[in-house]
Amino acid sequence: MALTPPHLRMFNLPGGGSLCCWRARETNVGWLLADPNGNACAVDVPDADALLSVLAVWGFRLSDLLFTHSHHDHIDRVPKVLHETGCRAWGAPDAGLPVSVQPLQDGDRIRVGEWGIQVMETSGHSPLDLTYVLPEQSLCFCGDTVFDGGCGRMFAGPASVYWASICRIREMPEPMQLCVGHDYAEENYRFACSVLPHNPQLLSKAREASWCAPSFPLPIRVGEQKQHNLFFRADDPGVAASLGLTGLPPETVFEELRERKNRF
Ligand SMILES: [Zn+2]
Repeated sequence: MALTPPHLRMFNLPGGGSLCCWRARETNVGWLLADPNGNACAVDVPDADALLSVLAVWGFRLSDLLFTHSHHDHIDRVPKVLHETGCRAWGAPDAGLPVSVQPLQDGDRIRVGEWGIQVMETSGHSPLDLTYVLPEQSLCFCGDTVFDGGCGRMFAGPASVYWASICRIREMPEPMQLCVGHDYAEENYRFACSVLPHNPQLLSKAREASWCAPSFPLPIRVGEQKQHNLFFRADDPGVAASLGLTGLPPETVFEELRERKNRF
């Protein structure tokens, strides 16, 4: 299947190169960085055929593949992708990935083609999640740790670890653009309104997300998530009060938010 707009979007990056994204499966988002010479670096493989199609249609050569975590919808037929492209794979060696990888851990700094990339561990969604930050381009690939208006399910936890991971992302500069692994914006903002039903900003976000659904995935800014993402606000006394958890620690509030969202 050839992926052309509106299925795929491409953004020019400051300093050259481009960022491509496309929807894959039901809710996944595929992400690819391409330098001006056509060398490309992908983050996760939600759909191997879609990735190979994007490479073919746009004439990119995949040199590197970064893994955020090992859930099945992020590692679709990875051996086939490696075989067909000859790319290098990077990730956490203990994350249970289906191919051997150049090992990465929290604090690593790597150079992939034109890109200087910092590695952050942001576990909690799975036992070992990595986030990739490109400070010069203000881009952050955070897998399933954070979504627009929400966060991933807590398959690993504990809540204190996941909350610490959310805080690491929240602490990044406000213009930082998060490239997330799924689009659940419509459901996330509807849920947020069920927790804070009288918040006009959230009602407006929910309306916007509903009008746009299924929205085309775009990078989302840290500054905006600090205002609108309830899971960034587990230490906000107003959020704790709305859950009947006044005075309890943020990880408890975070865990309750996550459990309510699971049942939503
Ligand atoms: Zn996942």
